[in-house]
Parts: sequence; structure tokens; C-alpha cells
Amino acid sequence: MMAQEFVLKQRTEILAAVCSSGSSEQLERLLDVLLAHGELSWEEYQSIQVQGRPLHANARHLLDIVYTKGLAICQLFVAALQQTIPEGPGARLCVSEGVSQVEKSREAHQTSGAALLSQRPSLVGKLQGCVDGALEVLHETGHFTSEDCNEVRLPIHTPSQQARRLLDLVSSKGELAANVVLQFIDQKQQSGRSSLTPPKEFFKYQKKLCSSVLAQSSFLSTYGGTSHMPLDDIYTEGQLELAADLEVQGNLGLGDIVSTAGIINEEADTVLVSGDAGSGKSTLLQRLHLLWARGTALSEFLLLFPFSCRKLNSELKELSVQDLLFRHCCWPDWEQEDIFRFILDHPHVVIFTFDGLDELKQSFSDEHRLCCPTQPAPVHVLLFNLLQGSLMKGVRKVVTSRSEAVGPILKKYLRKEVFLKGFSPNGIDCFVKKQHHDPAVAAKVLASIQANTFLLGLCHSPVLCWIVSQCHKELLGCGDGTPQTITDVYLMILQRFLQHQSSLKTSKGSGWFQEHLPTVLHLGQLALQGVKASCYVFSNTDLDSCCVTEKDICTGFLIQSKDMSNDYSHQYEFLHLTVQCFFAALYIVLFNNADRSTITKLFALHDLRETGFSSTCFTSCLAADQRQTPGSADGQKSATLGEMSLQRHAEALQVHPTASGSKMAKEVLGKLDVDHLKLTYCNIGPVECTALAYVLQHLRNSVGIQLDNNSVGDVGVEQLLPCLHICNSLYLRNNNITDEGIRKLIAKGLQCDSFQKIALFNNKLTDACTEHFSHLLRTKQNFLSLRLGNNNITSEGAKQLAKGLEFNHSLRFLGLWGNKVGDAGAEAIAGALEGSKTLTWLSLVGNGVGSAGARALAKMIKSDTSLEELWLTENCITRHGVEFLLEALEHNTHVKSVWLRNNNLSVEEVEEMTQRESRLIF
Ligand code: ADP
Repeated sequence: MMAQEFVLKQRTEILAAVCSSGSSEQLERLLDVLLAHGELSWEEYQSIQVQGRPLHANARHLLDIVYTKGLAICQLFVAALQQTIPEGPGARLCVSEGVSQVEKSREAHQTSGAALLSQRPSLVGKLQGCVDGALEVLHETGHFTSEDCNEVRLPIHTPSQQARRLLDLVSSKGELAANVVLQFIDQKQQSGRSSLTPPKEFFKYQKKLCSSVLAQSSFLSTYGGTSHMPLDDIYTEGQLELAADLEVQGNLGLGDIVSTAGIINEEADTVLVSGDAGSGKSTLLQRLHLLWARGTALSEFLLLFPFSCRKLNSELKELSVQDLLFRHCCWPDWEQEDIFRFILDHPHVVIFTFDGLDELKQSFSDEHRLCCPTQPAPVHVLLFNLLQGSLMKGVRKVVTSRSEAVGPILKKYLRKEVFLKGFSPNGIDCFVKKQHHDPAVAAKVLASIQANTFLLGLCHSPVLCWIVSQCHKELLGCGDGTPQTITDVYLMILQRFLQHQSSLKTSKGSGWFQEHLPTVLHLGQLALQGVKASCYVFSNTDLDSCCVTEKDICTGFLIQSKDMSNDYSHQYEFLHLTVQCFFAALYIVLFNNADRSTITKLFALHDLRETGFSSTCFTSCLAADQRQTPGSADGQKSATLGEMSLQRHAEALQVHPTASGSKMAKEVLGKLDVDHLKLTYCNIGPVECTALAYVLQHLRNSVGIQLDNNSVGDVGVEQLLPCLHICNSLYLRNNNITDEGIRKLIAKGLQCDSFQKIALFNNKLTDACTEHFSHLLRTKQNFLSLRLGNNNITSEGAKQLAKGLEFNHSLRFLGLWGNKVGDAGAEAIAGALEGSKTLTWLSLVGNGVGSAGARALAKMIKSDTSLEELWLTENCITRHGVEFLLEALEHNTHVKSVWLRNNNLSVEEVEEMTQRESRLIF
């Protein structure tokens, strides 16, 4: 059910839920959210919140306003309802993505007055308990009179209502008063933290923990196992994105991981940092640790306890939270009990980090509840209860995981989710320069990366950027042999590491591989065993069982685990999870070729469940795919995403130096019979586009590729070009694409016969792209559908498009919803479409079109076009304009409907005109 319909049909149930307690609290919380989002004006708010009027009447008035204001506010209302009354009537309604986040973050340049509104829900929370103090300050500074203070303090108000009345009054007093109250709240928050009185030995403990964290986080282990790179020298900012607010991108910093930006659940403590393997999650956490230990970040937290889930796997004993903190991180030499008590009493000054939740053997569950911090339990039970909040409520927890491995149960307990998207183009540049101090070498490496779009796409992933950059010598000297697949890149690092050790440094061909075959075998066997058993840390016994020798370790693929505990026994892990997977795959291909079932077992979820391999790196990919609904247009055959994933890994698995990746992908994809691939909300960025294009180019038939709501961007668009010839429709809604991406896309699209439809709703397009579309329309006489809604196209852009439309004889659908083409733009488009024999559907909804535009469109209709539906909702057409349309329709029988809702027409005018022409829809 749509949100608007829900608001209407469930009116009685909503009213009952909102008013059931008899207190206006629920209603006021809903109002807070609507105000914060700017969906409700201050005047509307006042008209609803009438003191002395019965609660039901106020609530009814709110529902009237929400319903009549349209879909967007209805969606937000339902989302807010779901949050304030989780078991209420809206519980099962699925509202569109994006509105489930019901509080916006404060923007840096916001005025204090605006911040009072946009931050209202959290300000109400913060003010409760200190309303008197705030009133005092406002009184002293002359912003409030005694009457104002008394009005707020009225005993009939609950504390949250007092806070709201205070905010309401401040809003009416202007910017200075707003500033005073915001400053007061800030100070209150700060002093709340500084008024702690820790036990005597606390600072010694803090110092010990700090130096231990500092020692653990200062260096990044790099290849050779022996060399360590200072993190300061190599750390490059990755791109962060808030799951709850995809619009705030690009300029997020590390501090935003714990800031108030993008909070989806104020009650929860756990922040999830998610991203692909190799996107830099562990490194980011390491950076946070380092900055905390130096006192330059997260300074609101007095204690930081870092954990690695990979290492927690090997904790077999039952532990209490106290054991976990003190034994696994840092032992207090004195006053253990007092220090632990202090932590329990002041959870808000403590932060835990858990790296690699996806590497834990057990998948997250909230079945075993535990709330006693001194009660021992298996380590995964402790961890789940910490994340879920039953244990150590109030302690902030930051956890990293590959996105696919996080299921809906954990999502329920998240305070916020931050996506780590790898390096930006500038980041790649910066990283390579940090790797190569010689500017000439750096410039050469960058030039070679930029010259190969495949490599450039891969380098957005930090781990691949690191490999490519490490292998610069091979890369620069390799002539024709530049890597073509991710596998090639891993083979390159294999060669680099092995030759680093090799006596045959200059050996060409596969000599190096033969020489090191035993090493590859040993490491491969260890890796595969680990992948099968979700084991990523290996003891000496594990190494012995796979005959891994000292010489094998020296190749640099295995590094010694860092450990915060005082356990000095040696443990090893692969340089990176992806390196472990690569070795496992190498082992399968080289020595298990006959037994193909190993591969299927790794991918088959039910098999894995039976064997207990519940969270291997391979399964996480499948699990993600099975979460998606592969819904496709009627009658289309969709590839299940499981199949797609398999294709992705088929590519990752083709690792034999002599096996041709293309051949394998061709064989697999050649057999696939699909005509629509839906990969919406799949976190697809440039790297995934590269892999996707690589495999899809081998499809037999042309397909529709639906990539809406990902992070394809211009770089990703470029990566997709190699498969554009098999693509008949490309859906790229909401993907951060600019005019530059379009330029490249169209240049290639012009050469692709089957490419006939494109949807680019909600990107970053301006008039500059219309020149390319115009060229496309003029040149490509089989193009069918162009949808450019919700971009930034003005009348100038529309005029450009018109130049192409004039010469086009194929287009059937043209969508410009939510741009700014105005009358001039509508006139140009209408003029170009006069007499069109193909266009059946045109949308100029929400484009500032007035009666002049309507007049031109009427003329177009009169010219006997093929048009069937014309969408003009949400414009500013008056009666005068509609008269032209009415007159034109008298001469046209093709047109089935002209949509005119929300224009400048009175109720009477609407009624009269509906009588005159039933095809006009108001
Ligand atoms: P993840 O935890 O997401 O799998 P890692 O943090 O282990 O990824 O990153 C893999 C490798 O990529 C690191 O060992 C490092 O070489 C490189 N790397 C990742 N992030 C950064 C960064 N922000 N700056 C520099 N190098 C990075």
C-alpha cells in the first residue's frame, strides 16, 4: 500500500495509536520529526498544536495536513510513525528507502534557527533534565521574560513537553536566542563529560592502554613480513558515505563515524562501517585507534578497547566482559575492580571497536540474552550482546564488516551505518605518490594506471591499488601483458613476492612459478583449509599440518598476527583476506581440478550450513545476493543474483596462469539465458562495474541492466562501456553520474546498435549533458526511451534536446520530471515534437511550466502526434493555459490522458474542466 493511501485508509487506527495513551507525547514526537525534515511549516505546526483543544482534534488536523500535502510527507509520516510507535498500524508498511531515517544531520552552514528545527528530536532529548538551566540563561540574557519562563515550567507539561515549549518560544524570539540555547546545550554536553571523578589508578591504566594501542596501530604490515610502513606515511582518506543520508557524501571525515550525522537509531550504540573486502575497513579502524591514542580524535572517549574478531575466534574459554577487556586488551596493574566499576558507571566515555565481524565463525544472532558484565559466556555470545546493547549499554561500539555479511537482525541494532567506498580518483593519486617518493616513478605509475581503464577501476579498491602500485615495475615493463582481470592482478603480486625471494629474478615465462610451486601448494592448502573453516589466524600446528616452512613464510604472504594480549605464541594470518581467497582458489584449480565439487561446496549455502561453514568469505557473497529480490519487469527472465555472484567468482577463480579468463567467462555466460539483470541497491561501485562488464560482455543476447541506487559514478560508467553492446536498456537512477560520464557513455552508445533505453533519474546532470543526448537523438534512429528526471536541466538544456528531437523518428518515452525547463523549455520541446509519429509518453511534471508552455503543448497535440499520455502535474498552469489544452483535445483522439494535478487552478475550475473533458486529470 502506498503511504498516502495508508494515511487515508488507516486513519482510525493511526488516530487510536497516536492518542491511546491520552498524552500528547506521541503526537508531539511525530511533529518533531516532520518539522525537522522541513515537511511541516511553522504555521502548520501551530495550527495543529493548539493548546486546550482535544488531543484527537489536533491529531486529526495533522492527518488532514499530511494527506493533502502529498506522497513525500506521507512517507516521512509513516516512517516516523514506525519509529515512535513500532508496534503500531504502520509496522508492516514498507516505505521507500531514505525516509526511514527520521532525523537529519545538522549542516555546517545552517543558521541557529534552522538548526533548532532540523535537530529538534535530539534537542528535545538533550534539553530534558536541564530545562531550568536553559531558562535561567535565556532569562539572564534578556531573551525570555519571567512569563515566558513560567509558561514553559507549567506543571502540566512533562519534561519533554517543557523542552518543546522552550524550543517553540525560542524559535519565536529569533536567531540570537536560538544561538544562546544551542550553546547552552553544547556546554551541558561537554561538562557532562568532564565532571567525572575516575579512581586514582585510572590515569595510569589509561596511559598503559594508550601506549599499547599506539604500538599496535602505528605501522601497517607490508610485504616481506619484515618491513613495516608507518601508517602516517601511507594513510590516504577513503570515501565515506552515510547509509542514512546518501546525499552527504565525499566530505565525511573519520570523526563522522561517531558524530551525530546519519543516526538512524538514537537508542542504539553500534556503528557499522561496511565495505568490500580490501576497501580499507581495518586500516580505517587502525587510523582511528592511532588518532585516539595520540589524543587527536575521539577525545570524548577516555578509554578505547580494540578487538579483532579474527582473533576472538581462537578464544575458546568462556569469558566475562571484564575478562574480555582486561585480558584481551590491557591489564590494569592495580584497582581492577574500581576501574571496571568506573567503566560500568560511565559507559559514555568508553568505546569498543571490533574489526571484521564477518570473520567471526558464528553469524550474528540475538537469541542468547546476557546482561551481567561479570557473567562468563562464550566469546561470540558476549560480542553479540555488546553489539545488541544488552551488555554495556551506552558504550559506543564501532564494528567493521563486509556489507554482504551483515544481515537484517544486526541492522535492527545499528545506531548508524557508514559505507567505506575505497579511494576517490584523487585518493588513488595521493596513495600512489605516498608509495613512491620519487616523483618521476609516481608519475609513471599513475600514467600507466590512468592509461588502462580496467586498472583505474580496480584501483578504487585500496588493496588492489596497493598491489598495482607494488607491482609498478612489472606494470611498466610489461608491454602487451597488462593485467586484464582481477586474477591477473593477484598473479602479478604472486610473481612479485616470489621473485623477491627468487634466485631467478630475471626468469621469464612461468619459470618463477615452477620454481615456487611447493610454496604455492603449501600456502594454498593452508588458505583453503582456513576458508572452509572460517579460520583466518593460524598456529604453528596449522602451518605444520600443511607443511608450510620458514621459507614459505618468508615470501611475505603470511604475516605475524598483532596481538594485544600478553600471549607471545606465534600466530600467522594472510596479508589480506583476499590474498587468502586467492591462494585457496589457486590450490583448487591447480590440484583439485578433478574434484570440481569443492567449488560448488564453497558456494552452496545449504551444504555449508550442514558442514557448519556458515560465514566463509564465499558464502557472504551468496547470502547478500539472496537477500535481494530479483524482481524484473513482467515476462522477463531475470538472472538470479546468486547466478550473477557465481559469475563474479567464476572470474575470481580462474587463476591458473595458462587458463584463459575470457574463455571461462564466455563458456559460463554463453549458457545464461536472461533478458534483464537487476542489481539495485547492491553497493556497486567502479570496481564492481569492471567485473560486471568483464563477464557480461560474453552474454549471448542483449539484456536490460538495472543498476539503480548504487555508486556507479562517472568512473563506473566508463568501466561499463565494454559491455554496452549487449545492453538494450541501462537503468542508472541515483548513481552520482555527471555530464562527463554521460559524454563517454553516449560516445560509446552511438556505436551500439541494441542500446535503446536509458534512465538517469536523480543524478548530477546539467544542461551540459543535453548536447550529447541531442546528438544521440539525431543520430540514433532506433532509440526508444530517454528519462532524465530529477536532474538540473533548465530551459537551455531543453532547447538543446529539442534540436535532437526535431530530427528523431524513434523515441517513444521522454521523461524530464523534476527539472527546471520552464515555459521556454516546454515551448522548445513541444515545437520539436509537433507531428511526431513515435512519441507516446511525455513527462514535464514539476518543471515550472506555466500557461505559455501549456499553449505550446496544446499546439503540439493539435498537430496530430502519436502522443497518448502527457504529464503536467505540479506546474503552474492556470485556467488560461488549460483552455488551450481543452481546445486542442477537441481535435485529437490519440491522447488518452493529460495529468494536471497541483497546478494553479481553483476547486471550481477543476470541477468545471473535468466536466468538459474527461481526459484531463486533476
Ligand atoms: P579491509 O579491512 O576492508 O579488507 P584493509 O584495511 O585490510 O581492508 O586494506 C587492505 C590494504 O589496502 C591495506 O593493507 C593497505 O595496504 C591498503 N589500504 C587500505 N586502506 C588504506 C588507506 N586508507 N590508506 C592507505 N592504504 C590503505
